[in-house]
Amino acid sequence: MKTLVLDLDETLIHSLSRHNSSILTKNKGVTLEIKVNNNSLPTLYRIYKRPYVDEFLNIVKHWFNLVCFTASIKEYADPVLDYLEAEVLSKDKTANSRTPRKKLFSQRFYRNACLFVDGKGYVKDLGVLVGQPVSRDVTGGSVSPDLAPLSSSGTLVNSPSSSSSSSSNTGSTGTPPSSDRCERSRSRSRSKTRNVTNDLSKVIIVDNSPVSYSFHKENGIMVEGWINDPDDMELMNLLPLLNSLRFTSDVRNVLSLKIGQSAFRE
Ligand SMILES: [Mg+2]
Repeated sequence: MKTLVLDLDETLIHSLSRHNSSILTKNKGVTLEIKVNNNSLPTLYRIYKRPYVDEFLNIVKHWFNLVCFTASIKEYADPVLDYLEAEVLSKDKTANSRTPRKKLFSQRFYRNACLFVDGKGYVKDLGVLVGQPVSRDVTGGSVSPDLAPLSSSGTLVNSPSSSSSSSSNTGSTGTPPSSDRCERSRSRSRSKTRNVTNDLSKVIIVDNSPVSYSFHKENGIMVEGWINDPDDMELMNLLPLLNSLRFTSDVRNVLSLKIGQSAFRE
């Protein structure tokens, strides 16, 4: 079975952070209280699900090994993913109450599995899925300064997800003070995740930000970023392509054709 890697923010959900709960009185969405830093007050996030996200995930979970890979930090992403998983699995009509439910995402990857590239932001290292992380040399020697999640609650509150809006980190050069922790963190990540798959020919990543998969362009499918369009059909429109990729020996042979098409348009 192939592995489908899904981005979280603006691909599956959209979230807004608010310190003031009094304004969170809308009907739609759900409010989660997320504590990013032990020394700070919890931040309230309003989470909005993309249209058809439950249906989409309940279909593709039968087709692929699902993995979530977000550039957000674990403290933010885990509560959001726990909520999303519960929502999706509660709507699974095929579930048998006698058999224990499988987790939706077999694994979760966070910012600490990304590499920070100057001028780009956080790039997801799909190499961690196959035990072959991208070399630091490839990135110009710049490793994410924010591999230690507790060091940057401010970054999270302002931009929980985006690789492109992490300007507060872009000025950092050289070795960050937390680099030892970063490396340990990455090592842990690697050792835990060695067996997701062993071959990038069987890995697809769906993300609203091409920067996120710029080390592995041939594995990527870009979707329109979603914020609040109630008529959005992007996830359902992905199904025919994803269905065909199940039967492709090397997904990169198909997905690289899209890169060629965009080259012709330019
Ligand atoms: Mg995203």
